[in-house]
Amino acid sequence: MNTAYVALGANLGDPAATVRAAFAALANLPDSRVAHSSSLYRTAPVGLTDQPEFVNAVAELQTSLAPEALLDALFEIEQRFGRIRAEKNGPRTLDLDLLLYGDQFIDLPRLTLPHPRLHLRAFVLCPLAEIAPQLALPGRGTVAAWLPAVANQGIVRL
Ligand code: ADP
Ligand code: MG
Repeated sequence: MNTAYVALGANLGDPAATVRAAFAALANLPDSRVAHSSSLYRTAPVGLTDQPEFVNAVAELQTSLAPEALLDALFEIEQRFGRIRAEKNGPRTLDLDLLLYGDQFIDLPRLTLPHPRLHLRAFVLCPLAEIAPQLALPGRGTVAAWLPAVANQGIVRL
């Protein structure tokens, strides 16, 4: 089994209900289990700011799916929740990003690991710190050590 972290985000419809349902979908992935789920967090949109607030969370998976198979499974869940890929950083019913897969570095056109922006975003770091504060970000130190860098980003635990 490998340890993988997945970021969940939603800002259309009932985003909190969507994120809770997405946790259930992750729990049903083959060859995988959800080892830890963070609380839900309300966060201000990044980039395109003229859109509803997001609800974000992070899950720790124990999985024997390979990284690309896991990414495909995450895309499949996004689609089931009605995800339409439109503008980057735009509104979405559900976004599932693969943050980390063990300590692997992957650089493929459709999969970059560790996720390149994870250490810069409160909406990822705060829920990640809740379930895995001492986790090492490969090559970057611990999650907890990066928290002060995002302290000015608005985020509220629900
Ligand atoms: P966002 O950057 O807002 O999450 P999308 O969800 O539309 O935007 O993803 C854009 C692209 O990012 C996808 O086509 C996907 O293949 C690629 N991608 C690269 N690395 C990752 C990763 N670690 N997790 C999820 N998607 C990734
Ligand atoms: Mg995404």
